[in-house]
Amino acid sequence: MELLVVGSVAFDGIETPFGKVERTLGGAATHFSLAASYFAPVQLVGVVGEDFEEKHARILRKRGVDLEGLERTPGKTFFWAGKYGRNPNERTTLATELNVFAGFRPRLPERYRESRFVFLANIDPTLQLSVLDQVRRTPKVTALDTMNYWIERTPAELRRTLRRVDILIINDEEARQLTGEQNLVFAAAAIFKMGPKALVIKRGENGATLMTGQFIFSIPGFPLKRVKDPTGAGDSFAGGFMGWLAKAGKADTGSLRRAMVYGSVMGSFAVEEFGVARVARLRAREIADRARRFERLTRFEL
Ligand code: AMP
Repeated sequence: MELLVVGSVAFDGIETPFGKVERTLGGAATHFSLAASYFAPVQLVGVVGEDFEEKHARILRKRGVDLEGLERTPGKTFFWAGKYGRNPNERTTLATELNVFAGFRPRLPERYRESRFVFLANIDPTLQLSVLDQVRRTPKVTALDTMNYWIERTPAELRRTLRRVDILIINDEEARQLTGEQNLVFAAAAIFKMGPKALVIKRGENGATLMTGQFIFSIPGFPLKRVKDPTGAGDSFAGGFMGWLAKAGKADTGSLRRAMVYGSVMGSFAVEEFGVARVARLRAREIADRARRFERLTRFEL
């Protein structure tokens, strides 16, 4: 089933202990779309400027990502720069230049309005809500990502949007900040009262946990020898997670648990190279192999 995503398409400047790139294709919607494209047809809603070239669009198009909803406007594409030290879970943001993003008003092409799976990547919650308002049929699954910036600056708008969302996908610090609860079990209970029925907590290299009112499921991070560039891991996780649900066409217990595995698989590939390099050229075989490795990594008998 079609999977709709709204979020940033960007150029990123990235520095890690393994190297530095000045300007590479990035953005939450980009990382998400590429990861999800291995599982379901993806429709992207976003905005880019005049500096966005055909070679950049081709990276997404090659993976079958539908770009009718990617608007081009005069100005420069969103730019973000960040730096990582030895700990890949800690990053310093060096620059956030909204550029064409500043005046962005998402408009869904007619075709996108029938989508039953929707991912609202990290942007202004008012824009996230406007996308939900444009979807004609009630989606089967709506998931949302956000960050401290919006939790602090637009709490009321975020609450309003959350009421319409099924699954919240955020990191542990954001869950604590959103609810004021240090304990994540209490944080989840508080989030369920805000609207979502499920919470996915991302912990970078330490894995991820899914919490619902009925069950909890945890998965470790894939043991990698080298994390070259952590940028986009969270969005690639969300892409694998939502991509799997869209492929399954449902979000029952079994599908949700498998979605956690495919999310972790895609997140672990994302960090192996700079930018989107690794996830843009994966083979189905590599994804299946890593999912099997996760199975072996976590299976036990009592
Ligand atoms: P993550 O998956 O959390 O590592 O997301 C990294 C991506 O988010 C980068 O490719 C950035 O271009 C993008 N990004 C960083 N800051 C923002 C922001 N304030 N709004 C939207 N996208 C952002």
